[in-house]
Amino acid sequence: MSGQLIDGKPIAMKVRAEAAERAAAFAQAYGRPPGLHVVLVGEDHASQVYVRNKERACRKAGLAGQVHRVSADLGQGRLLALVDELNTDPKVDGILVQMPLPHGYDELEVIARIDPAKDVDGLTAVSAGRLALGVPGLCPCTPVGCMRMLAEIGCDPEGKRAVVLGRSNLVGKPIAQLLLQRNATVTIAHSRTKQLGDLVREGDIVVAAVGRRALVQGDWIKPGAVVLDVGINRGEDGQIYGDVDFEPARERASFITPVPGGVGRMTVAVLLSNTVDAAYARAAG
Ligand code: NAD
Repeated sequence: MSGQLIDGKPIAMKVRAEAAERAAAFAQAYGRPPGLHVVLVGEDHASQVYVRNKERACRKAGLAGQVHRVSADLGQGRLLALVDELNTDPKVDGILVQMPLPHGYDELEVIARIDPAKDVDGLTAVSAGRLALGVPGLCPCTPVGCMRMLAEIGCDPEGKRAVVLGRSNLVGKPIAQLLLQRNATVTIAHSRTKQLGDLVREGDIVVAAVGRRALVQGDWIKPGAVVLDVGINRGEDGQIYGDVDFEPARERASFITPVPGGVGRMTVAVLLSNTVDAAYARAAG
């Protein structure tokens, strides 16, 4: 029997609708909508598409969204000055600098400059530290979206074995932290991990966040496991593929996310809700 699809669209719509409702209540209470400011440096095509999606999503949810499109030759110093300006602007609740930055920029220095209270991407050391300590804070959007998907299918991580493939600050590490917070027993696999298949076979929950098409083979999936595929890989045919060999994995999984149409839908939705959270937290002082 094949596993059920976890369709990202209705879950993302729900998250967006909740964010819109809370944004309207914020505007009513404070006389302005929550504001998300995105900085886009250079002309990278994929980044332009992502930023347009964020702009549109903000508009639809009633948030004040603004994109600062700056030339790739702006330079590190002036980019930091722009972040400083946004840090001090009281109408700005969320700051997102679209990554990757063009060659020559120091991404870590730029991230470190963002006021943690406005860090809606959850990438600053303060946000990562709060997550590691298990205290409330802003968490990276895709991992939060993964947790919401688990909740929506009624999968409680407590006591389960979770295997996370990938250890990036954006996806792998924060999803592992969130699963740990929910009392899963978590293993993080990465590029130097040996016998990856044997590890994945132990997973009641498998999260693949690597960026290698069909890395996770169908027969690695424990029967009944829940599989979240975060990977985005463009095939030679121009189509988007995940990290999981989908059809054979679906045969064994109880639930599985498709690519596209799965986890990818969640990221922007959570960005909106993180911005509303940041607005309320800042307003509360
Ligand atoms: P990254 O390149 O920063 O990290 C990839 C990770 O995979 C690294 O930690 C590396 O150690 C690990 N890895 C490499 N080879 C491996 C192997 N053979 N076995 C196990 N682990 C291995 O990438 P990222 O930013 O974490 O993104 C991962 C994937 O998720 C990419 O495909 C990216 O496009 C996608 N992504 C999707 C969304 C979304 O909204 N769906 C959001 C962010 C990233």
